[in-house]
Amino acid sequence: MVYDEFLKRVKIFFNIYLTNRCNGGNVLENKQRKVIVMSIRISEKYGVNPMIPTCFYCGKEKNEIVLLGRLPNDKEAPKHGVIDRTPCAECIEYMKKGIILISVRKGESGDNPYRTGVWVVIKEEAATRMFGDHLKESRVAFVDDETWEKLGLPKE
Ligand SMILES: [Zn+2]
Repeated sequence: MVYDEFLKRVKIFFNIYLTNRCNGGNVLENKQRKVIVMSIRISEKYGVNPMIPTCFYCGKEKNEIVLLGRLPNDKEAPKHGVIDRTPCAECIEYMKKGIILISVRKGESGDNPYRTGVWVVIKEEAATRMFGDHLKESRVAFVDDETWEKLGLPKE
């Protein structure tokens, strides 16, 4: 993202923030649109403390900026990080076209397992053949290395 764009966004944020502070609320009703506003505490060292969010699925930077403000112990925000499970624009397109499979280390559990670096998009019909139809809604699945290999999925 270019720096100008960043400044523009910060400015927009502040306009909204300042307006919102006056009515202390969360949602500003505007004639044209509804704006959801979150107010933040500014860090003395890092100001609005910006971070570029990355996509939980593909790991690429999203075209967004998040202002974290003052963090515990007034820490500096990391440059990049995952903040939620909302897919990036690219992944939304992949999910429309098929199912994303992400390879993970065998034996991993939990909802953010260690990834081994490969991911593919397969057609829904193929996913149904491999896993039944329960990926129809989630559009994404973690597959452990061993299963990955058995299914003959590409390794690069
Ligand atoms: Zn993505």
